[in-house]
Formats: sequence, C-alpha cells, structure tokens
Amino acid sequence: MQKELQFYKEQRRKILAFRYVDFLTGWDMQTDAATGSIAADSVYQSALNEISYRLSTDPEFERCVETLYKQREALDDVLRHEIEVTRKSVADAKKIPMDEYVAFGELTSRAYPVYVQAKQTSDFELFRPYLEKIVEYCRKRTVWLATDALKGYDVLLDMFEPHYTQEKYDAFFNVLRERLVPFVKQKTAVPAPVPDWAKQKFDVSKQRQFCEYIRDVMCFDKNFGIMKESEHPFTSGMGTDDVRITTHYYENDLVSSIFSVIHETGHATYERQCDPALNLTFCGGGASLGMHESQSRFYENIIGRSRAFWQFHYPVLQKTFAPQLDGVTLDDFMSYVNRVEASFVRTEADELTYPLHIMLRYEIEQKLIDGSLQVKDLPAYWNAKFTEYFGITPPNDAVGVLQDVHWAYGEMGYFPTYALGSAISAQLYHAMSKDFDVEKSLSSGTTGQINQWLGEHVHKYGASKYPDEILRIATGEDFDPDYYVEYLIKKYSNAPRS
Ligand code: ZN
Repeated sequence: MQKELQFYKEQRRKILAFRYVDFLTGWDMQTDAATGSIAADSVYQSALNEISYRLSTDPEFERCVETLYKQREALDDVLRHEIEVTRKSVADAKKIPMDEYVAFGELTSRAYPVYVQAKQTSDFELFRPYLEKIVEYCRKRTVWLATDALKGYDVLLDMFEPHYTQEKYDAFFNVLRERLVPFVKQKTAVPAPVPDWAKQKFDVSKQRQFCEYIRDVMCFDKNFGIMKESEHPFTSGMGTDDVRITTHYYENDLVSSIFSVIHETGHATYERQCDPALNLTFCGGGASLGMHESQSRFYENIIGRSRAFWQFHYPVLQKTFAPQLDGVTLDDFMSYVNRVEASFVRTEADELTYPLHIMLRYEIEQKLIDGSLQVKDLPAYWNAKFTEYFGITPPNDAVGVLQDVHWAYGEMGYFPTYALGSAISAQLYHAMSKDFDVEKSLSSGTTGQINQWLGEHVHKYGASKYPDEILRIATGEDFDPDYYVEYLIKKYSNAPRS
C-alpha cells in the first residue's frame, strides 16, 4: 500500500498545482488584468483544463485510488474520507464522454457573451438556443452520473452539496413556502423607501478607510491575505496561508462595500481557520458551497446587521464621514440596513426576502430537468411564479429570468446552496448562543470570540468530513430549517420601518 500512497500523493500534488494556477489566473483576471488581456485567458485555460482532466482521470491514478479504497480501514480518518470523495469524482469524470465534456466547455464559453448581450438588451430569445442546449446537457449529465442512490435532479444537487437531495430541499422549501411567504407578504405590503440621508454621495476613499477598519474588526490577518477591488466581490485562495478577498465601492451606496467586506471576510475566516495539516490535500478549504455560504452570511446578516455590532462601530462610521452622518442616529442606520422590500433582483435582496428568490429558482430547475417545463416557456413561468411569491411582476427579462449568470455557466443545482447556507447560519447561531453571549462578545470590538467558536466547531474540519456531518458535530442536530424561519420571524416582527 505504501507504493500506492506515494503515487497518490505525487499525483495529488500535480492536480493541486493546476488548481493553484487556476486560482492565481482567476484572481488576476478579476482584479489586475486589463480588459483586453482577458481573451488570452480562455485559450490557456482550456489547455490547462484538458491536462488537469487527464491527470484526474489517469487510469493509473484510478487504479491506485481503487486499491487505497479497498484498504481504507487502514487509513486515518482524513485520508479515508479523501479517498472516498476522490474515488467518486474520478468515477464521475470518467462517466462523462470526453467529447461531450469538451463540447460543453465550448458551449458555455460561447454562451457567456451571448448571455451578457441578452441581459443588456433584455432579449431572452437571443439566449434561448444556448440555454436549451445547456439544459439538454444537464439532463444528459443526470443520466451519465446516476447511481442507485442518486437520480435526476439529485445528481446535479449532489455536485454542489453532497447528501442534500430533493427530499431534504423539498422539506426545507416547504417550510419556507408555508411559514415565510405569508410573513414576507405582510412585511412588504407597505413600501420601505430609502431615507434621504442614504441617497447622498459617499466619498470612496473614506469608504475604503472604513472597510479596512471593518476588515480588522473581523480579525482578517493581513500577513496571510490581501483585499482588493473587483466588479463583483469574491473570496479566493489556496490553503490557510493565502486567502484573498475583494470588494466594490459605489459612491452612491454607503453600505454595499461594508457588507461585502463582512461577507467575504466570513468566507476568508473559514479558509484561514482550517486545520493547516489539511493544506496540500484535497480536504483543505470549506466543506461545501452551502457550508461556505453559511459562514459568510452568518457574519454578514446575523452579526453584521445586528445592533450589538453597530453599537460599537457606528460611531466610527459617523466619525469617518463627519459631518455627513451627524443627524443620522444609530436607530436610523439600523432601520436602513435591515429594510425589507419586495424586489426583483436576487443579489440586491434583503435578508428576509432572499430565500424566496432561491425557492423560485429551485422549483424552476426541478421542472427543467424533469422536462415538465420547456425553456421557451421559461420567461412567462418565471414572471407568474415571481408574482405569486412577491406580489410584483418583473417589467422585463433582464430583471427577471436573465438576471443570474449561473445557467449560462452551465451550473444547475447550485442556487439552493445559497438558501441552505443562510438556514445553516441560523442553526449555528442557536448552538453558539448556548455556549456564550454572542452579542456581548462584540463589545470587545472584534469578532474574535465568534471566530474562535466557529474555528473550533466548524472551520478546523475543512473538507475532511461531509457538510451534514460537520453540522451535526457543531450543533448536535441534523439540519433543521425551523431555526432559520424562527430567527427571521423574530428579528423582523419587531423591526422598525425606515
Ligand atoms: Zn458568498
């Protein structure tokens, strides 16, 4: 077995090297590279993808993984889990015919610019033929990758969040449909206008100064990471010692960049607090998309939009922007950052209405994959369902069915992880609150104690266990959406209107 282990580790090192290059080029393209330089990226990227695909489907590697899998009882817990996951991903990669895999890569790279144009001109018909092919490929994927346990849409869901099947998601979204939809309707019945003070221009250099302050409040370690600017904020990195975040400053929006920094440092803290022993393995980084989003949303919404947090930091914000915010009280600010409104665009939605945007996409994806909804009927279906949940109808497809890029990338099954992450964050908050007074800990001026709890109960495991297993260890329970609904109803029942 020693020989196999040695070969496995050598091959793993090479695969990780490709991931490292992928991370660095991706970071560069989104932060520093000039717009005109991006064309070269796709040429090199497809060559790199091909070599990387060959490495992970190499027959010798597959044989080696199979041998190790058979003797897995002799391996330590982390390596055993890693071999189990790797075996599945190698098997999955091999089940997809090489020509189909390559053709799909080409399809999505051609689909992307068409999607962008379709969105800009609000012209669904332009994008429709591409989306039809993407849906067709995703449906084929559900056949290629089907197992005894996973069929249909479950195959796609499992690619983004292992163990969370339609059965689990259905139970989750049913709770939202029954308990949250009526509550949201009630809370959004009266419009919540943006207060006049928030419509001012806010100096970007002052925003940058405050965001750097907030980054320190979150204990982001500058020795192991950097913060830059990009069109859409994101986090990326490799291992625990290179964790990078971005934000985006808008002159006419004071809080957008602040909440982006809090959100992204949530992702970064997760990466940073994984057990360093997991570096250079496939078990480094977060356990899943949903688990990752549970961390970013925990910090952004549960902590970042709480009074306990701003009680301490709002005076600093006021001072940074003096005298602009002199007449704006903490109450005014709290109402503003927690205002609720039925809106068309998911990425701009508030904490309360957000999960309904995901529920809509989940229902649509299910229907596209089982064939009960055709792509040509999608805009009308979207608008009808949207009206049912939000009470407002999208005026065009750009803010309706065309608003998200995920389907153009070929990612179906991804969206539900966003709502799952939010729900998990509420369950973790409940468990954390049993151990210490979360709000009180914020009076120290940082999120240090919270980071420590999450490090100990969630982050240290990295991806060395399945996400549902980590949640069980951290909270002592299986996933339970009631914590989320109760958290939202409690918070927004008493929220003052702005
Ligand atoms: Zn995120």
